[in-house]
Formats: sequence, structure tokens, C-alpha cells
Amino acid sequence: NFLVTLPKTGDDELGDLGKSIELLAKELNYLTRERNDFLASISHELRTPLTYIKGYADIVLKRKLSEEENQKYLHIILDETKRLSDLIKDLFELAKIDKNQFVIQKQKINLGEFLAKIDQKLSPAFGEKNMTLHIFCPEDANLFADPLRLEQIIFNLLDNSIKYSPEGARTDLIVSRKKHKVQITISDNGKGIPEEDIPYIFNRFYRVDKSRTRSLGGTGLGLAIVRDLVHAHGGTIEVKSKENSGTEFNLIFRG
Ligand code: ADP
Repeated sequence: NFLVTLPKTGDDELGDLGKSIELLAKELNYLTRERNDFLASISHELRTPLTYIKGYADIVLKRKLSEEENQKYLHIILDETKRLSDLIKDLFELAKIDKNQFVIQKQKINLGEFLAKIDQKLSPAFGEKNMTLHIFCPEDANLFADPLRLEQIIFNLLDNSIKYSPEGARTDLIVSRKKHKVQITISDNGKGIPEEDIPYIFNRFYRVDKSRTRSLGGTGLGLAIVRDLVHAHGGTIEVKSKENSGTEFNLIFRG
């Protein structure tokens, strides 16, 4: 912790400087705490799947199991390995973002064509839950963005709407233009987010329901990455949500 003790002087200018230093120390302390929390979360998140992998591998090796049990435990090992690899991938992504090591290569994207491709790629995932994705986009809507990053942003948000919606639910993706801006709205009628959790959902590793999200395969890093990528494009992201009713994400980019 940075502790600041300031001598009392009658000098106003020195007093103002002192206040600025105090604020700076507060900010530094906050950042240090945040960094420590993040490191603690990383080690916890990495250790959990490893514990499962080691535990079930031990069981498969040491116990005489039926073929069915063997299969069950090997599937758990496979799922947890995938989880580890997703986590490592997301952590690398964030590390690159933190170090400003990634480059946004903007180009003109026709959103209609672009979204049709995403629709095609995600249609099996929507189909698996009997869900439907409805895309509304003006034919000539264009956006200057990095296609790979924009795909990552939209993928993450659509993937969440699948994860957090019941069978048969619907997701809408609407592109609209406002003056010199392009707005992309992704809304679902899924489980929604409790009001008290909304301010935190873009934080790294924040999940509303830890245990349930685990079974759904989330890393808790998706929205943090989405937000950073949107900001790197000079855009903004906002969320509106109502528990048991649905969630809406609004992305606004300069057109
Ligand atoms: P995760 O990998 O857990 O999905 P995210 O960073 O993508 O992590 O999202 C953080 C949390 O926000 C999720 O765990 C979930 O609780 C909540 N959330 C995100 N998107 C939605 C959505 N469309 N509907 C309901 N809850 C959502």
C-alpha cells in the first residue's frame, strides 16, 4: 500500500498538490489490489480443472471400472482439458490487450454479408437448443473495423445468449444507423442478469452464477475481452437486462 502523509501548510497550491498526490496513491492502491485479485483468480481458475483432471485420471488408472464409468470419467477429463485450453487462450488474449500488443486492422466491412457468415457458423449451436437467431441489417450498412475482432465480439455475445437462454428462445441482432454512428444491438429473452450484478459483468472472472456457468463452459473472461475489443475500436458497449426476462447489449461504433 502507498501511504501518503502530507505536512500541513497554509499554502493553497501545496494543498492542491497534496490532494492530487493523495488521489494518485488511492488509484495506485486500487490498481495493486485489482492486480492481486486478478492473479489470485487466475491461479484458482487454473487449479480447479487441473484438480479434476488429476483426480479422475487417478481413478481411471487405479480402479477397476466398467467401460461405461471409464467413458464417463474420460469425458470429464476431456471437458476439463478444453476448459483449461479456453482459459489459457482468453488469458493470452487479455495479456496482449493489456500490453497494447495487438493491432486493430480496420477495413470496410459490409455488415449484411459479414453477419450472414456468422449466422451460418453459429446456426448449429442455435439449433442444438432449438433457438433462433434473427438478423436485421440494412443492405448497405458498412463499418470500418477489424473483421477478426468484430467476429470475436459478436461471437462472444451470441454465444452468451445461447448459454443463458432456455430451449426454444430467440435472439435478435439488429443493425441500425444513427447520424455517423452504427449501432449493433444483440438482445435475447433468456434468464437476464440481476440488477445488482449488472455493474460487474464486464469485470474479469465475474460470473453471476459461478457453479452453473462452470457447467456451461464459460471462462468469465468473455465480456471483459469484448469490452476491451470494442474500446480498441473506439466504440462503446452498454447493457440493459432484467432478471427472468432478457438481456440487451448495445454496441456503438463510429460509422
Ligand atoms: P462467461 O464465460 O461466464 O459466460 P462472460 O464474461 O461472457 O463470462 O459473462 C459474464 C457473466 O455475465 C456470465 O457468467 C453471466 O452470468 C452473465 N451474462 C453474460 N451474458 C449474458 C446473457 N446474454 N444473459 C444472461 N446473463 C449473461
